[in-house]
Amino acid sequence: MARARTAEQILALLGRAGRAGGVVALAVAALFGWTAWSLFDQRLTEGDRSWFFVAPLTLTLAGAFGLTGLYLLVTGGGVFRADPRFAPMTDAVILERMASQPRPYFVCVDCRVVLAFEVSVGRCPRCNSASACLEVNTDADAATVRSALGL
Ligand SMILES: [Zn+2]
Repeated sequence: MARARTAEQILALLGRAGRAGGVVALAVAALFGWTAWSLFDQRLTEGDRSWFFVAPLTLTLAGAFGLTGLYLLVTGGGVFRADPRFAPMTDAVILERMASQPRPYFVCVDCRVVLAFEVSVGRCPRCNSASACLEVNTDADAATVRSALGL
């Protein structure tokens, strides 16, 4: 399901963009909706039945993008972004948490937040990035994270 995978990645990308992503998602949804409707309308009068397979897929995509768009507009980027546990931390708090947090734990160097193992297994719940979410299991890992954060 390469297509579903791509749609999922686009949705994740829009999610990171917050409210602006929501507006884009709604625009995409409208485009899919319009495509589905025009396929339906046109093919039905021609007696062609292939729309029967295309229209539901397009409508599903329209629904997925539409719901994501509304969700982003309302929440501005998701519950995790608003979750105080994942709020960006000051340098002092990061250093303190890194010293006290049981290993392994994760640090998102983009969001500047220390994440307990239970809330993040290699992916930041805030920005959904896997590449920015570094695992800390050894002192060397901790040193890598500190230098990535400029601490
Ligand atoms: Zn992050």
